[in-house]
Order: sequence, then C-alpha cells, then structure tokens
Amino acid sequence: MTTLPLDGKLTDEQRNKFGKWMESKAEVIGKCPICRQRNWVLIDHLIHAPIFYGNMTLLGGPSYPFVGLFCQHCGNTQLINAVISGIVPNEGSPSEPNLNQNGG
Ligand SMILES: [Zn+2]
Repeated sequence: MTTLPLDGKLTDEQRNKFGKWMESKAEVIGKCPICRQRNWVLIDHLIHAPIFYGNMTLLGGPSYPFVGLFCQHCGNTQLINAVISGIVPNEGSPSEPNLNQNGG
C-alpha cells in the first residue's frame, strides 16, 4: 500500500513520476485551448472530484483523484486522472473508486 502525504501535496517523487508519465503521452504539452499560450503549471495538491448525487451532498463519499495543470495566462485548468497516471494507487477504497468497475 502506498502512503500518501496527509497535506495532499504532491511529493517531489510524484511530481517527477507525473512529469515522466506526461512525456510518455505527449512529447510537448500542447497550447492552452482557450488562450493559445503554452504556460502550464502543475498544481501543488492532488484534487478530489466528488461524485454527483443530485441535491445530496455526501461528505467523505467516493471521489476521483486528479493531478491538475493550470494555464498561468488565463486560468484554464486541465485535470489528469491520478490513478491512470500512476500517481495514486487504484485500491478501490471508498475515496478512490475502482476504475475497472466503471462502465462495465
Ligand atoms: Zn490559457
């Protein structure tokens, strides 16, 4: 089991791993689709997007972890799935839904 930092910040190891993963997918990170600048910055923290249940808010419920990149020029933000990019293990815990069970 991988231990994740309690402050939610990406460790140097995670940042390096994510950088290598991005390089394996795209030799050059593309221009921002909004402003056409190439000025991406890695967000310091992992981001969790909770599952939408309509009018109900489920605190502590399942969510999807993401690594975020934002454009320093216009603020456009891109979210990369942290499980697929290998930054967060897919252990199927309540806070990390097992991606292999979706869309079956
Ligand atoms: Zn932009």
